[in-house]
Amino acid sequence: MSRFFSEKYAALTPYTPGEQPRERTYIKLNTNESPFPPSPIALRMARQAAGNVNLYSDPTCMALRKAAAARYKVDVDEVMFTNGSDDILNFAFMAFSDEAHPVVFPDITYGFYPVFAQLNRIPYETIPLKDDFTICADDYVGIGKNIFIANPNAPTGIALPLCDIERIVASNPDNVVVIDEAYVDFGGESAVSLIHKYDNLLVTQTFSKSRSLAGARLGMGFGCKALMQDLNTLRYSTNPYNINSVTMAAGVGALTDENYFRFACDTVIETRAWTEKELKRLGFEMPPSSTNFIFAKHPSIPGKEMYLQLNEQGILVRHFDAEKLTDYNRITIGSKEEMQTLIETLEKMLCEK
Ligand code: PMP
Repeated sequence: MSRFFSEKYAALTPYTPGEQPRERTYIKLNTNESPFPPSPIALRMARQAAGNVNLYSDPTCMALRKAAAARYKVDVDEVMFTNGSDDILNFAFMAFSDEAHPVVFPDITYGFYPVFAQLNRIPYETIPLKDDFTICADDYVGIGKNIFIANPNAPTGIALPLCDIERIVASNPDNVVVIDEAYVDFGGESAVSLIHKYDNLLVTQTFSKSRSLAGARLGMGFGCKALMQDLNTLRYSTNPYNINSVTMAAGVGALTDENYFRFACDTVIETRAWTEKELKRLGFEMPPSSTNFIFAKHPSIPGKEMYLQLNEQGILVRHFDAEKLTDYNRITIGSKEEMQTLIETLEKMLCEK
């Protein structure tokens, strides 16, 4: 830390992103990326846009908003875009919460929420998951605080039904409820349609998983017009050009190519079912996943040891050191071939035990 670093950030513990190694080729199952390249339409549009990067991008993101409005049956004023969904989540903490408007979220969830709360000096409370790792919706009904829920949750992979989300939103009319749907396309029920009914609901999604654009950084938010205006006030006060024009074009292509999107999601779901079956055959235990990852533990290998052994074999998964998670590893669903290699490697590892 330099002697100039502001005291207000001195105690901040930043988010630790998953490893992104460049020095060696891994089977990379650690940050829930798509095993597929972006849609050919997205790539073609991005290439075309690359020729014009001497000009600023469109700060209104109108082409993207029109494509999303058509795809998700919302108005162009009910959707907005940011540089990855982390960006809109940060804006949501900044815009709606402060000392007088604290935040709650589950104790086991996306690790960025407590960082955003600390960064913006927002008091927060965490609510423990049940022993089976599910979120107890009743814990949030009428709680009277701003709420962040990842649905499906991470790193557990478990989804809450839409009726529970609606109960939470309806029972907290004077608080903002943010539903982070980063993984919804792999089996969750989206709350986007509820934005027309509730003015306190913000739904966020990402192009990093189901739309194969993690490196392009594109996130999307849905809410009533007034919520979008608030978040845009912050966006225009930080970086109105936070979506570059190449990403914008790729995003429009990805939103238009519904067939490719369905193919990618369906294939991941199919490979997930195969992987779950194989992991169970090897004695692994896991909660039911509605995402593009599986959160698994084995009774005879500690989570950290398995992570290290897989790493040595060139397979990268995500291990969390937190107490309740330490037995587990989060394994992204890669291609069928990658998952076959994973299963063969685990089988050998367990035989040698
Ligand atoms: N929410 C959850 C639950 C996530 O796991 C992630 C990915 N790490 C994000 C949001 C952010 O994704 P991105 O910024 O790539 O859109």
